[in-house]
Amino acid sequence: EVGLNIRRQHSHEGAEVLSRPAVVTVMGHVDHGKTSLLDALRQTSVAAKEAGGITQHLGAFVVGMPSGASITFLDTPGHAAFSAMRARGAAVTDIVVLVVAADDGVMPQTLEAISHAKAANVPIVVAINKCDKPAANPERVKIQLASEGLQLEEMGGDIQVVEVSAVKKTGLDSLEEALLLQADMMDLKARVDGPAQAYVVEARLDKGRGPLATAIVKAGTLVCGQHVVVGREWGRIRAIRDMLGKLTEAAKPAMPVEIEGLKGLPMAGDDIIVVDSEERARMLSEGRRRKAEKDRLRKINEGRTEVEEESEDMPKRVEMPIIVKADVQGTVQAVTDALKTLNSPQVFVNVVHVGVGPISQSDVDLAQACGACIVGFNIKSPPSTVIQVATRANIKIVLHRVIYHLLEDIGNLIVDKAPGTFETRVAGEAEVLNIFELKGRSKSKGDDVKIAGCRVIDGRFTKSSTMRLLRSGEVVFEGSCASLKREKQDVETVGKGNECGLVICDCDDFQVGDVIQCLEQVIRKPKFISSESGAVRIEC
Ligand code: GDP
Repeated sequence: EVGLNIRRQHSHEGAEVLSRPAVVTVMGHVDHGKTSLLDALRQTSVAAKEAGGITQHLGAFVVGMPSGASITFLDTPGHAAFSAMRARGAAVTDIVVLVVAADDGVMPQTLEAISHAKAANVPIVVAINKCDKPAANPERVKIQLASEGLQLEEMGGDIQVVEVSAVKKTGLDSLEEALLLQADMMDLKARVDGPAQAYVVEARLDKGRGPLATAIVKAGTLVCGQHVVVGREWGRIRAIRDMLGKLTEAAKPAMPVEIEGLKGLPMAGDDIIVVDSEERARMLSEGRRRKAEKDRLRKINEGRTEVEEESEDMPKRVEMPIIVKADVQGTVQAVTDALKTLNSPQVFVNVVHVGVGPISQSDVDLAQACGACIVGFNIKSPPSTVIQVATRANIKIVLHRVIYHLLEDIGNLIVDKAPGTFETRVAGEAEVLNIFELKGRSKSKGDDVKIAGCRVIDGRFTKSSTMRLLRSGEVVFEGSCASLKREKQDVETVGKGNECGLVICDCDDFQVGDVIQCLEQVIRKPKFISSESGAVRIEC
């Protein structure tokens, strides 16, 4: 109400702090086997062991080790989900498993994953996958990784490398052991008592049970019956189920659980906080909704005002409407966020619609209605009927599986579309050596004129350009060129080293020693810039 943002500090003081299991995310290039590896690991999970191997994808699973230790794996592969969660403040991942196919080596998304892990300061354990393949060459992968700056253990660094095969299920125990070792080194601890601080890793709507959220507790204990606020939603926890689907009373740190009883569907990355009463829960969720709505409107307005604030000499800012379709919600968010980084003073990237799943007829209809292009990330090609309609309507469809390539494509489209800025460039410089006066000879020829006898000392002079007169470095006059002559001959241009006679419209104030600059107008287009870290931007 008073415009302050207050964040609850979770204090560990006086509380019991105990070791907790590590939370692991699997990342890597498409088709390198992230899903297969997660499937294989899930087979070794506690749930699979108890349920005879049949498990559901629930957002997370726990693998128990013979020593009694355990590891929690987040079940959504890919860095898109990882970075979308992180962008929303949900830093739940402790360790990243970087999957690299032994037969394919380091690829663009491998590098992206490394950048994401580094940016989040999360240690990496490398899993070289597909080691069963005849073309597998783990040594080559290691050299590639080392040359990307990863300090691998066998080369004296601290990043562990494990060779696995997700299909043949080999090396999985070594991977789990490596993860435990990494977790040990990190000495992960969490407060156990007190109100829980937790994050949603996945949410779904169940016909019978209503909104269900898979949550990971970061600290404290989540207890059945508590009132919670989850992102913008709220509810009273009616039931907590562990990953086996068994009801439990409470959830402790790093334990993935499914909670039931929320009034609405939260989003991956939402935080879960415990409050004292239903009244507070309602109030907080209402406040968050209002804030989200205000932020949304502000963002739209920001875009608008920037568009409206064109002054006369500024080029127009054009709009680039985009529709984003991707495989899962987390990716949609990540792609949308990434596209917005391409916003520039000249082209406004307006994501008009986002969605999960393949590109459909209705996407094409919408694109046609607002002149948008359609971006598909990590999805299959649309059916040929849809492609035909899009082609006929001249709608561009851009499909990619690597975010960098997508941004590069869209960046180039933006550069094409940008109006560019007019820029004044000094094309030539001359010094005034002498001044000649021509007295007004007849009325038809006009008034007296002063001619500057100059030598071009740099660049070249063009008659059609604007001239600028400088005295001791100060601009004293600017005007168009009335006449440019070389030895009594009218000329269009005079090059460096040559002498010429120059008349500037309405200027009769030349002095010997003045400098005259010939100014040219050029249109400068924006540039698509990418840095080594994978960050991109449009520079105007
Ligand atoms: P993702 O895109 O990284 O999730 O990759 P997937 O898990 O979908 O795997 C891509 C393809 O590689 C699939 O056809 C898998 O069967 C295959 N694959 C994954 N792991 C292995 C492996 O260890 N050995 C072999 N031979 N094939 C694998």
